[in-house]
Parts: sequence; structure tokens; C-alpha cells
Amino acid sequence: MYCPSCKAEFRTGYTACAQCGVALVDELPPGPLPEYLDLTTVLVAPDESMLMVAKSRLEAEGIPCFTTNNMQDLFGLGRIAGYNLVTGPQELQVPPEDAERAIEILEAIEAPEEDAE
Ligand SMILES: [Zn+2]
Repeated sequence: MYCPSCKAEFRTGYTACAQCGVALVDELPPGPLPEYLDLTTVLVAPDESMLMVAKSRLEAEGIPCFTTNNMQDLFGLGRIAGYNLVTGPQELQVPPEDAERAIEILEAIEAPEEDAE
């Protein structure tokens, strides 16, 4: 159970938020998560395999990352008829505060034969 006002989670049995006094709901309504609204695109991958490699590297470094497909699913925009979202280039996005580090990590992936570090 969740409070739709302050987003606090309550155990089953509660019916109203102790803080706000509003009725709890089973699930929070789907909608943009504020902290994910302002993502920075750090990579446009020509295919999914490269996207997956990049994503797993960033996640291994503790950087949360999102593909444009995920974002569109999240916002319910991924089902536009006639618009193929799967086969085109896919963007990898991270929160702006992680973008600089993410780009460094991605550059290291793209030039594996260089032993710069
Ligand atoms: Zn509340």
C-alpha cells in the first residue's frame, strides 16, 4: 500500500497515510519519476549487443543507466502503431551527475586495444 501524496509505503492493513491522512492505494500511479526526467544520452548504440555491453559496464560501476526503449516503456510511449522502436539505434542514458564518468567508461570500452590507463 502506498500513499499517493508522499509516496510512503505501508504494510497491508493500513488504509490511510499517517503523515498526510489521505487514503492509500495499492500501487502508485504510473508516471515519470522526477529523478529520471533529466537524463543525459552518453551513447547511441547501433545495435543491441553493444548497448548491452555498455549497460552492463556502467551498472558494474554503480551507474544507473537506461535505454531509450526502457524509457519509452516507462512512459507508455513505446506502443505507437507503425513506429518500430526495436531495430533502430538505441540510446543509453544516465543521470547527468554520472554522465562524465559514464563517458569515460564507455570510451574505455570502445578502444580496448589502447592501454592508456
Ligand atoms: Zn503520505
